Amino acid sequence: MKNLILPKTGTGGTERVTHLKEDAKKAAKYVYYFGGGKADGNESMKNLLGGKGANLAEMAGHPNLRLPVPPGFTITTDVCTYYYKNKKKYPAILKAQVQKALSAVEKDMGKRFDDPNNPLLVSVRSGARRSMPGMMETVLDIGLNEKTIKGVIKQSGDARFAYDAYRRLIMMYADVVMEKADGIVPKGNKGIRKVLDEKLEKVKHKQGYKFDTDLTVNELKTLVKDFKATVLKVLGKPFPENPYEQLWGSIGAVFSSWRGKRAIEYRLIEKIPDEWGTAVSVQAMVFGNMGNTSATGVAFTRNPGTGENKFYGEYLLNAQGEDVVAGIRTPAPVNEYSKNAQSRHLPTLEETMPDLYKQLFEIQKKLERHYKDMQDIEFTIEKGKLYMLQCRVGKRNGIAAVKMASDMYDEKMIDAKKAIMRIAPNQLVELLLPMLDPEIQKATKPIAKGLPAGPGGAKGRVVFSSIDAVKWAAKGEKVILVREETSPEDVDGMYKSQAILTTKGGMTSHAALVARGWGKCCIVGCADIEIHSDTKSFKANDGTFIKEGDWLSLDGTKGLVYKGSMGLVDIDLDKNESYTNIMKLVDKIKIIGVRTNAETPADAAQGLKFGAEGIGLFRTEHMFYGEGSDQPLFLLRKMIVSKTEDERKLALNELFRYVKKDVKDTLNIMKGYPVTIRLLDPPLHEFVPHDKEKLLQLSQELGISMNLLKRRVLALHENNPMLGHRGVRLGVSYPEVTEMQVRAILEATGELLLAGQKAFPEIMVPVTCTENELIHQKKIVDRVYKEVCDELKIKKIPYLYGTMIEIPRAALRAEKMATVADFFSFGTNDLTQMSFGFSRDDIGGFLPIYLDEKLLEDDPFMTIDQEGVGELIKFGTERGRKAKPHLKVGICGEHGGDAESVKFCHRIGMNYVSCSPFRVPIARLAAAQAALEYPIIT
Ligand code: ADP
Ligand code: MG
Ligand code: MG
Repeated sequence: MKNLILPKTGTGGTERVTHLKEDAKKAAKYVYYFGGGKADGNESMKNLLGGKGANLAEMAGHPNLRLPVPPGFTITTDVCTYYYKNKKKYPAILKAQVQKALSAVEKDMGKRFDDPNNPLLVSVRSGARRSMPGMMETVLDIGLNEKTIKGVIKQSGDARFAYDAYRRLIMMYADVVMEKADGIVPKGNKGIRKVLDEKLEKVKHKQGYKFDTDLTVNELKTLVKDFKATVLKVLGKPFPENPYEQLWGSIGAVFSSWRGKRAIEYRLIEKIPDEWGTAVSVQAMVFGNMGNTSATGVAFTRNPGTGENKFYGEYLLNAQGEDVVAGIRTPAPVNEYSKNAQSRHLPTLEETMPDLYKQLFEIQKKLERHYKDMQDIEFTIEKGKLYMLQCRVGKRNGIAAVKMASDMYDEKMIDAKKAIMRIAPNQLVELLLPMLDPEIQKATKPIAKGLPAGPGGAKGRVVFSSIDAVKWAAKGEKVILVREETSPEDVDGMYKSQAILTTKGGMTSHAALVARGWGKCCIVGCADIEIHSDTKSFKANDGTFIKEGDWLSLDGTKGLVYKGSMGLVDIDLDKNESYTNIMKLVDKIKIIGVRTNAETPADAAQGLKFGAEGIGLFRTEHMFYGEGSDQPLFLLRKMIVSKTEDERKLALNELFRYVKKDVKDTLNIMKGYPVTIRLLDPPLHEFVPHDKEKLLQLSQELGISMNLLKRRVLALHENNPMLGHRGVRLGVSYPEVTEMQVRAILEATGELLLAGQKAFPEIMVPVTCTENELIHQKKIVDRVYKEVCDELKIKKIPYLYGTMIEIPRAALRAEKMATVADFFSFGTNDLTQMSFGFSRDDIGGFLPIYLDEKLLEDDPFMTIDQEGVGELIKFGTERGRKAKPHLKVGICGEHGGDAESVKFCHRIGMNYVSCSPFRVPIARLAAAQAALEYPIIT
């Protein structure tokens, strides 16, 4: 009764309706056959047959393929579910179905299981819906015992091979079935596999052999005897002689391995549900260990490291399955192209077995054309005959993903849609940044591990303060800034460093945010090291001691810290044709705009280079930090501690030209693309100096006493500055501050227009909560606008007036706000902070627990909390557009560069997202994927 299972092809998976009524259960199909050019299942049935089982069926049975796959059958994931629901018992009908399928395999192979003359041997293999490489178990050579081995020797004429298979079976079975599946915790953590392995090594050592293949028949025979005795002694049970007991023992062990420690941990990381379960495939054995006309290998239809369209793989002569990955012998390259430093001298498969290589080459081509994606394949050659044992979509890094997508599109293998969907937006990060040389990195042990806050690789000499970083960098040194934490005062040193390493702080700490914005390599929360500031040194938990000036290399993508100077591989995006090709498709398909956040004209240029269509957030505050900030910062401070309007105006007048220059440069770079300029936002006290020297200087300049100055500074103190005198509140209490900025913006624009350039500013008022604030500020804008037009003798200066929506009340009052504002930009950092009541700077204390305990799915500062904060955004957008149907709506803040958040913004019909320059390509790709996934915009 096949129709209990309703496969819906084309979704990449199988939707199933399982009737749980008793009578229906009896009729369920639990076993799917493959082999002899046909198969019950196919590739679309991964949910039921697991990835491995579904692809074995596809390879064996699809009319376009019908590849040489050893026959076998797959026991469904439903059985796994049943097994765990019913105290590790199977459905009653399973035994008969397995027996029937096994008979079919026997017929196909012309051998019989448990036949002393011509025995069939099988493997029992695991396979979940999504591949969980190496996480579950496989048992090979099942069916061998004292009797059947005679038959194997007779049929193969190769006693050495037979005993080699036998010793493998005993080792695997004892390990996987008798120990692990039975939950036996080995004494002193030394498992049975290790015990047996040592025995093998001892023999090799004694005989002076290098490889397993050097062992003679007699040595193997003795080993088998020894293995059996050891199993009995260590595990208290004999290795089972009965092949059926071996078969069912292995099936049970594979199901059990779904709940093994490794598998559970892997599922947690990869977010694979526990309910899925694994399928079990039982398959006739073919032997790569039958001497030098036999071999086994793994290969990729394209190079998974570079994406190059070249067949790439490794093989071992006279070996079985796991040997290739286990690294017992160095695998040889399948062809010239696959050679590496270690395998350069080894003969290729193309040389040793040219005909078989040709066959394999044709098959992999066929497979790739069939699946229309790069395949990762496993094959075995038995006495000159090739068998396919596995295929699946191969994993690849970001660079390869882009190249393959672009090439396959060019080759007309896939359409634009598929090409775009093939690349995970975050994979693009790898293309944008230099990284540590992967070969060297593989061979080096990290000294510490932290949180991967800013991706890419970097190397430099260690310094422990921002001031030192600046000093050393000025001398042309490459430095890595190592601190417990960073603060805005460190920004200059951070900027001058190759990378930043902090021992405290989380993924949203100051260092992390700043570094990510710059696309700078950064590791935070690295508790493995302890800084000793007094001696300018740190010590890692592994004992490594690093002092100022020593070289360090960081992998910010993985959070790994290495001692010494490692090579970096640089990637020039402009030269990457595949990237350019893909991004052209992306821009054709995406609907939502992508802008960049920028603090300086240099950021703007970078964003533009990455494809930004404007600036969504230009913060003028930056001019008060870092290089060249001395004068503007001084003027700002002067303005802040001014008491009278006249004093303040004086300072503002001087500050004006700095603001205007910054704005003008940026508008000029953006060539008429919209530039959203935010009016001064932070609480003023942030800029006030606290050290005596600076205070003294300020008091002298202002001509007031130190005491008076101190009192003025004290008056600025707030208990809760984040919710204090900041944003539009500054503009309301000091209208002249708004006036100065608006004048700078409009004059800059007007002058550019008069010079024949294009410029389009959008004036954005931050931290608003009522339309009255917007009305209040608009009056200033209107007045200044008229004045500037008159002054420059210009009729019209195009600009928009709008607001940042970052206070929940503003979202709720959106309809009213929109009567005054031409645009909204959701400031999702603050909106999240104020919606949750989570302080952005202090979540380190509890957020990890919230995530661990699954109280929250994700860090809401990393990806928009769609059901809470997202509702506010949606509501605000809808209400705003009710008042003003063409209200421009965008988002600025870290979320603009998060793929899921971009997709959300697309779905609710925003006009654009804005993110830091280095996230722009990621946002563009995510935007195109969103347009493909959700083509209808409401
Ligand atoms: P994994 O999922 O860990 O890759 P597999 O089920 O693919 O485990 O098995 C590991 C290896 O065992 C395979 O790569 C293959 O070389 C070998 N193997 C499995 N089944 C057979 C078989 N029927 N004949 C020969 N080798 C096999
Ligand atoms: Mg495999
Ligand atoms: Mg804000």
